[in-house]
Amino acid sequence: MSVASHTAEQITAVRLSGRPLVVCDVDEVVLSFIGPFETYLADSGFRLVARSYGLTGNIERLDDGTAIAQAEVGRLLDEFFARETARQRPVEGAIDALAALEAVADIVFLTNLPKAYRDTRAEMLVDHGVPYPVVANEGPKGPAVGRLAATGGRPVFFLDDSPSNIVSVRDAAAADHVIHFVADRRFFDLVDPIDGIALRSNSWTETGDFIRAAIDAATRKA
Ligand SMILES: [Mg+2]
Repeated sequence: MSVASHTAEQITAVRLSGRPLVVCDVDEVVLSFIGPFETYLADSGFRLVARSYGLTGNIERLDDGTAIAQAEVGRLLDEFFARETARQRPVEGAIDALAALEAVADIVFLTNLPKAYRDTRAEMLVDHGVPYPVVANEGPKGPAVGRLAATGGRPVFFLDDSPSNIVSVRDAAAADHVIHFVADRRFFDLVDPIDGIALRSNSWTETGDFIRAAIDAATRKA
């Protein structure tokens, strides 16, 4: 699996200092996603039923309760990112934790998002006080994290809510510490534990402390 060319270009433009590297997803890790997306769905005549982890199969029409197909889920997501992302608020503790980590690490946001929305997303993160580089990716994140890690310092941390992204980065051995972070409590409870990762969390206090301790331990060893 390779990196899409537009993603590779963005990665090449990222300047890293050689300090430890934190590669962090955005939706449902730094910015709330499920809540605002549910509001958007309700306004559009749909609802999310948290029966299992994921969106496809869990979005129903309000009028007849039928689940909608993946293509329509994709269309709703696209509309949401085009029109509604201003409703996304920071996840509790995320901004403070990242700002504290910036003292000891490089931070890069790696977000699976249509590239047309990348700049809006980056401006929004700046407005929230986390002005770190934003890379818009598509597909599995393992290859993109591998590229970032190749030019950054160690240790490398990767945070994401999506099990497929977690597995992709774990299997690519692209990060030293893989952290499965799901802010939404219902989905955190629904998600299956994944083997071979460093931490599963829905708390930025716990996650920030974990990253800080791992950096301290690596610094002592060096
Ligand atoms: Mg996400």
